[in-house]
Amino acid sequence: MSYSTTSADVIIVGTGAAGLFCALHLPENLSIYMLTKDTLENSASYLAQGGIAALKDSEDYEDYFEDTLRAGHYENSRKAVDTMIRQSPVIIRELLDYHVNFDKKGDDLDLTKEGGHSASRILHHEDITGQEITSKLLQNVREKKNIDLHEHTTMVDLICEKNVCKGIITQDAEGAFHAVFGKAVVLATGGIGGLFKHSTAFRHITGDSLAIALKHNVLLKDINYIQIHPTALYSEKPGRSFLISEAVRGEGGVLRNKNMERFTDELQPRDVVSAAIKKQMEIDGRGFVWLDVTHLDPELIKSHFPNILEHCKEEGYDILKEPFPVTPAQHYFMGGIEVDLKGRTSMDNLYAIGETSCTGVHGKNRLGSNSLLESLVFAKRSAQNIEETIPYEPTETEEVDFSQYEGRDFAKEYREIVLEEIKRRDKDFYEQWCT
Ligand SMILES: Cc1cc2nc3c(=O)[nH]c(=O)nc-3n(C[C@H](O)[C@H](O)[C@H](O)COP(=O)(O)OP(=O)(O)OC[C@H]3O[C@@H](n4cnc5c(N)ncnc54)[C@H](O)[C@@H]3O)c2cc1C
Repeated sequence: MSYSTTSADVIIVGTGAAGLFCALHLPENLSIYMLTKDTLENSASYLAQGGIAALKDSEDYEDYFEDTLRAGHYENSRKAVDTMIRQSPVIIRELLDYHVNFDKKGDDLDLTKEGGHSASRILHHEDITGQEITSKLLQNVREKKNIDLHEHTTMVDLICEKNVCKGIITQDAEGAFHAVFGKAVVLATGGIGGLFKHSTAFRHITGDSLAIALKHNVLLKDINYIQIHPTALYSEKPGRSFLISEAVRGEGGVLRNKNMERFTDELQPRDVVSAAIKKQMEIDGRGFVWLDVTHLDPELIKSHFPNILEHCKEEGYDILKEPFPVTPAQHYFMGGIEVDLKGRTSMDNLYAIGETSCTGVHGKNRLGSNSLLESLVFAKRSAQNIEETIPYEPTETEEVDFSQYEGRDFAKEYREIVLEEIKRRDKDFYEQWCT
């Protein structure tokens, strides 16, 4: 087995929107080591469809604040919500400076509305907003000489002593271990979808940071606050589940059991519809129920849901002519590593941003299109804090005992740690969705 030791000023784990935006906000005289478990593009950030929310104008503040709190069952951190909303216009301006191309209506940005929002305040690029934003950020990151990108490299541990983070241990695609020392470590590893049988996120996004945080007594918050989307396309194929937007039911799509009978009110809140589907699947003794849009105007389906139509066709379902199978799927993680408004965790020199962190913005439930915004706002704030506090001196390295990492199955080990903690905090949720 080969080992190596290296160092940088700052280490960023994860190349989704949060990690990339943080890297772009760090000064260019700092060396940055960025890594991702998979390819640079395979992050949930690339998958975001609907858009990114932002304050419409100053008069919108109260409504946006209230919409976010109502969605979060008033369990949100008011300070975090306030910070996110107030920063949103600046963030959007920065994205435009990075040449992110939001759809326009005439000369103005085309703002849309989603469930839970009382006003049209969502910017989008067709229905591939995440790809548009993340690819432009990545393009900018690639041009920076101070940023070193490592694909197919997995963080398997933190190097820390007396609650001070000094770096990370990584494992590359060949299985070799490396110690990377840094003066600040930023965890931007996304959510936990890969722990679930069905999730709309990539399979490799498995909440590794949470397991590693637990191991080192870094505080977590609300890790049982996990959003289950009622309808993903059911498939026997391995890989992530394809999301069937809420709007399909909004337009009149009907859920049917194995006898093709309607069994619930499709327009109830997400958690209620998900539970009704789960119950029906148990009664039917199968892993899906049917979603039926055959009674709707075909032109409406073609114009509103071209991607869904196309994707289902690829999977063998002509949804204009026949019902198609759907199942609930994990979709978003509201909890995470507890952080303050500067992304600082309970361990010195360790930051967490994006979906793996818990700023408290979402409370118990996320308002649609708030997650990309949250990722960017707090990524920038963590970068600012690093810039203000990082010592401008060489990063120290130490001897590492690599033998402790040999022969271990980290994926299995960390999966068990995270699921066990979810079970400890919320047995009902665990039994309903994690088994
Ligand atoms: C289908 C879908 C649609 C969505 N639509 C929207 C939307 O319309 N609007 C919205 O605001 N949000 C949406 N979201 C949510 C949003 O995309 C994510 O919450 C957000 O992009 C998270 O960004 P992130 O940078 O924190 O994580 P991610 O983008 O998931 O990036 C995580 C990164 O960490 C890396 N990583 C993970 N573990 C390790 C490890 N151990 N070592 C090294 N690297 C690791 C991954 O490879 C990846 O590079 C959607 C999500 C999905 C799945």
